[in-house]
Amino acid sequence: MNRGDADDPEGPGKRRGRGGVPLLRDLGEFGMIDLLRRRYGGAPLHGEISIGDDAAVVRVPRGRAVLSTDMLIEGTHFSLDYFLPEEVGWRALSANLSDLAAMGASPVCYLAALAAPGDTPAATVDGIFRGMARAAARSGMRLMGGDTCRGERLALCLTVVGALARGRPLTRAGGRPGDILYVTGAPGWSHLGLRLLRGGRPPKATGWRREAMRRHLRPEARWREGIAAGVSGAVSAMIDLSDGVLQDLGHLLERDSLGATLREDAFPVTRAFRKAAGALGIDPIDAFLAGGEDYELLMGVRPARRGGFLRAARAFPAKATPIGELTAEPGIRVLRADGSLLEGESLPRGFEHFP
Ligand code: ADP
Ligand code: MG
Repeated sequence: MNRGDADDPEGPGKRRGRGGVPLLRDLGEFGMIDLLRRRYGGAPLHGEISIGDDAAVVRVPRGRAVLSTDMLIEGTHFSLDYFLPEEVGWRALSANLSDLAAMGASPVCYLAALAAPGDTPAATVDGIFRGMARAAARSGMRLMGGDTCRGERLALCLTVVGALARGRPLTRAGGRPGDILYVTGAPGWSHLGLRLLRGGRPPKATGWRREAMRRHLRPEARWREGIAAGVSGAVSAMIDLSDGVLQDLGHLLERDSLGATLREDAFPVTRAFRKAAGALGIDPIDAFLAGGEDYELLMGVRPARRGGFLRAARAFPAKATPIGELTAEPGIRVLRADGSLLEGESLPRGFEHFP
């Protein structure tokens, strides 16, 4: 979907910053836009207009458009001391795609607004856009426009466009007591990856280290699962996990004044996960319940429609696991494998993330 080309970000005859590395100011705003367009610009379909005009024109299926935007500021949301530019782009795009997924929408396109100091290496910007393009590629989402300007710090504002061709959006509201809570994949890995990276990035990782790093650096947004959940007609409410199972479950309960009971023995916590948590000195259940940035989906399923849901879930690339149920009684309770109960103050609180 994205056009690549073999030429160098440097380009022939450009002025160079220190050490021969071309800087944003060497390329200029239009030089940078042109490079991004050639390398990562979405190819327009018949009747569409991609990067290069005053605004993009995109075909959308009949139905409703679903829009979301997210801003990422260097130093506040990410740091190039810890992340490669490509990873910043990948994570930013995945987080946005995950918001579309959580509504049950099909991904359509994205816009990327960028502010950066003039002495930013052009290769850094190129890396960020390469990461976004790679994370977007499988979903078919195309870069159709954006904005580029000089700023005091690196800032990236992404806008994603999705479509709901049929059916209704899956919102955070709509759950009822008795609905079964399903979660995709295995939340907590991303936090384990973060903790591993904080101790210094391993040059070559294998086994659980590799898995934990991958899950933190290249999370996969569950857009296929989100669409299938919507189409199944069995899902009452849905949210994506950006802040951790407990925190985001809290948002799912809020609108309907519900509560939830979770069972530890149902959690998708594998031996590899326990091993990783143990090596990092973290309680695996705390990591599962309170770790953030997994971008898995958490959904309520009507018990009467469970069969239809399970049929739809067979097509999920990430497995869905039932971890508990919604209750009329407010608050979250976690039934531990040893029979004890965590609730209120005894529940793990969120972990602190990078500044
Ligand atoms: P305007 O003056 O109308 O803001 P620009 O010169 O900023 O136009 O942008 C020209 C074209 O390049 C537009 O189609 C815009 O969407 C696109 N564009 C600018 N910056 C980016 C970017 N960072 N990523 C993708 N497209 C961009
Ligand atoms: Mg502009």
